[in-house]
Amino acid sequence: MRFDELDLKPQIRKALAEIGYETLTPVQEQTLPHILAGRDLIAMAETGSGKTAACAVPLVQEVDPARRTVQALILVPTRELALQYVTEISQIAKHTDIEAFAIYGGFSMAIQMGKLDHGVHILVATPGRLIDMLYNTSLRLADVRTFVLDEADEMLDQGFEQDVEFVLSCMVHKHQTLLFSATMPEEIKRLSQKYLTDPVQVELIKEHAAPASLEHCFQLVKPHQRLEALLELIKTEKPTQAILFCNSRNGCDKLYDQLKKKVDSIEVIHGGQDQNKRTSLFRRFKKQQITYMIATDIAGRGLDFAHASHVINYDFPQNAEVYTHRTGRTARMGRKGRAVTFCTPRDMARLKSILRQNKITPIWLGQEPDLSGPPKTGRRTRPRRGGKQVGSNNAPPHKRRRPRRKNSRSSGDTNPKS
Ligand code: ADP
Ligand code: MG
Repeated sequence: MRFDELDLKPQIRKALAEIGYETLTPVQEQTLPHILAGRDLIAMAETGSGKTAACAVPLVQEVDPARRTVQALILVPTRELALQYVTEISQIAKHTDIEAFAIYGGFSMAIQMGKLDHGVHILVATPGRLIDMLYNTSLRLADVRTFVLDEADEMLDQGFEQDVEFVLSCMVHKHQTLLFSATMPEEIKRLSQKYLTDPVQVELIKEHAAPASLEHCFQLVKPHQRLEALLELIKTEKPTQAILFCNSRNGCDKLYDQLKKKVDSIEVIHGGQDQNKRTSLFRRFKKQQITYMIATDIAGRGLDFAHASHVINYDFPQNAEVYTHRTGRTARMGRKGRAVTFCTPRDMARLKSILRQNKITPIWLGQEPDLSGPPKTGRRTRPRRGGKQVGSNNAPPHKRRRPRRKNSRSSGDTNPKS
């Protein structure tokens, strides 16, 4: 279906043509008409499928610019995602008088409230800051007609379940709720049963969790040889743009120190940095002014770096979902992309579970390991905070991991606030 077949405001059509969106992506085709019709919706869709515009177009269509109040609220798990959402909405709303704005932590609440007082129609927020502002400012949600919960599973993984429920419970008036998630864990089913009314359910996760244009490469390395292997990989693959994932802030900084003199155009981004710096890094990476970006998972989630040719898992991802989200940063919208994951011997159990869960046929760079042994992984694939890791201690005693030291810089180091 084409956008010009929809009954949209001419200003929106014009903007879409300028952005270069002509036909709807499958997610947009299956959700947009329901959203326009005012239905509640639960959509399961993979990353890079165009969910942002699937929401943004109907919101811009429905919002009344003459009423200077918040009429649509979008809740997202991270600041970067909030900014990305606002950018997309602002492009679509370019020829209208509709204002979109993001509120998130680490920035003056007074300034954000000042902007809100000037009239914001579509508000994008992270949960913590939204609740702060509901408690401490005159921000009210009484005029919200559409509430969007984006990346709902990630929101819950980050421990925002109560916050999300609080926001949902704040909106007692009649409104439309749209819930987007890559997976559908029990908590999300529970929330949707409690707060959504007769929702349309759309499931667009294909048999393969990742786009088909994505090549899944894996390379066996000894932990101390990863740096060498990475430099070699960069030399042979010559990525046009790559995101290098580490599991912790420390790991990112360490890798950056090791690479900055050896590789041109490399930067590091993680949650420990000042917001302005992160925003500017994202912008520069998006504009392809940076070739290599070292990042924690917070940088990977939901962000659209359309030009990245490679995603490199320098640290092995914690579970199958993290793998899907990291590698979903490349091969977006049918473009080709390569994911390269370094596997150390202790990652084998998690590797098997990722290959099985995501139905991946791996391309091995170099030596291929023997993965035929009995499955060692536990069932649990979504470790919670403080939860045990997949397959961590099922190995025979001599192969067990050493208990993690505090501030450990080892590759498996997780930092939930990264
Ligand atoms: P998701 O939120 O599902 O992960 P995004 O909304 O970030 O995906 O979209 C992924 C990419 O697809 C972005 O680069 C976006 O500009 C592009 N895109 C979205 N909709 C269309 C469309 N209808 N036509 C062409 N490109 C699109
Ligand atoms: Mg998205």
